[in-house]
Amino acid sequence: MADMTIPDLIPNRIDGKEVPAASGDSFDKFNPADGKLLCRVARSREADVNRAVEAALAAQPEWAETTPVRRGEILYSVCNALKARQEEVARIVHLETGKSFKEALGETGGAIALGLFFAGEGQRLYGRTTTSGVPNKYAMTIRQPAGIAGLIIAANTPIANVAWKVFPALICGNAAILKAAEDTPATAWIFGQIAHEAGLPAGLLNIIQGFGDEAGAPLAAHPQVDVISFTGSTEVGREIAQVAGKRLAKVSLELGGKNPLVVCDDADLDNACKWVLLSAFSNAGQRCASAGRILVFDSIYEKFRDMLTAASSKLKVGPGDDDDFGPVINETQLENMLRTVRKAQEQGAVVLIGGERMTDRDHAQGFYMAPTLIENASPSAEISTTELFGPIACLYRVKDFAEALAMANDSPYGLTACIHTKSIHRATQFCQKVRTGVVVVNAGTYGSEPHMPFGGLKQSGNGSREPGTEALDIYSELKDVYINIDPEAL
Ligand code: NAD
Repeated sequence: MADMTIPDLIPNRIDGKEVPAASGDSFDKFNPADGKLLCRVARSREADVNRAVEAALAAQPEWAETTPVRRGEILYSVCNALKARQEEVARIVHLETGKSFKEALGETGGAIALGLFFAGEGQRLYGRTTTSGVPNKYAMTIRQPAGIAGLIIAANTPIANVAWKVFPALICGNAAILKAAEDTPATAWIFGQIAHEAGLPAGLLNIIQGFGDEAGAPLAAHPQVDVISFTGSTEVGREIAQVAGKRLAKVSLELGGKNPLVVCDDADLDNACKWVLLSAFSNAGQRCASAGRILVFDSIYEKFRDMLTAASSKLKVGPGDDDDFGPVINETQLENMLRTVRKAQEQGAVVLIGGERMTDRDHAQGFYMAPTLIENASPSAEISTTELFGPIACLYRVKDFAEALAMANDSPYGLTACIHTKSIHRATQFCQKVRTGVVVVNAGTYGSEPHMPFGGLKQSGNGSREPGTEALDIYSELKDVYINIDPEAL
């Protein structure tokens, strides 16, 4: 039985219309909080992607001719409509992720803030004017749409993930095909409906539901999709880079992390404890920027470990507004985590707290992983080097700043990092030397702002940054314009 706000079958949106998958196939989507069927979802394949690309190709030229200021006005209308229906959107996010309504409401607010930022970019979309080495010649750059944007997203913060890609793609004059995450189909569906009703012309935002290999892969491979922007795992990002790279399409990859949080001996330990809990466990650890590695100075290790374990044992897990975090997104994800924890234990790691699925009466039906802290894991063990995307963090001892920095950098990933210290010397040096795209002093490993560029080094990305004005570089092409005048003709 579907919830009132979510239809029984989540359709695609192609050329402004809601349509089932061409094959008529669908798959089940479950509520992670109670394991019950939430809805069925259009199971799209290449034929659906092709139809969406055709609709986008038909709609894009007129949108490209629309002034960026006017595009921005339409995106403002979309933001206003999102604001008017913020609670409805948040309720859908809550139902399909299991995170609390309160958190979902905040996430929806973040999506609106991001939309407003990019709507405003319609009044800027700056190019550059510069000098020429030749007399009577003028040089400048202008921004032009990339064309058709293929957007593929993860489920962890579904409305934020939609907004991060759709708003910059549209303001730059592209038509978009959004491949929704299979675990959060309804959030993409409601966004498409709201945008359409707010006046976004048909064909500019097409939404394809379905699995990655069936619906995402043909989008990445489609010869008429000019730019692919992907948020998801490093494994899939690598695959997409190969497929899209072969046809020389532009690719932006926002991938995983195994982010370090350093607690120095001079840190405010209460503040550090608060931020470790939030960085490791909020959103059930399902953040690319969550803290998976807590590096603690030797001299305070036992004290901090005990503080953290005591505080973790008080966390409330569930889908309610009073809970600290909810379930993970699906059962497969949960089983993967349990397997990795068991393997780590076999190799000598010690589970300080958690490590298990929660099976008491309130949690048994949902996909709940207990907040988990682990110590004694080898820095080279699988649990130390791979992203788990769940409420699990490992503690490591470090003897001093140099060892903390070295260990922070000893990772295949390079997304975010954080240090807790009162020393400006340690803080500044850490910010300079840590090999990540984001670094934070005295707070958490996560958190980003609409006007700031987010992204990572090494296996966390391919050098691109979104959002901020840097996202405009993904979704537009720069054109050099040279104007030569004839002084005799003046
Ligand atoms: P995932 O890579 O399994 O899936 C992400 C999306 O890719 C889904 O829509 C999926 O259907 C699609 N997909 C899967 N295989 C595909 C293929 N072969 N071709 C095209 N598309 C395909 O990731 P997930 O488990 O859903 O999400 C978690 C991951 O996302 C984590 O690694 C997390 O760190 C990352 N993430 C990164 C950021 C960031 O900004 N860096 C933000 C959020 C999440």
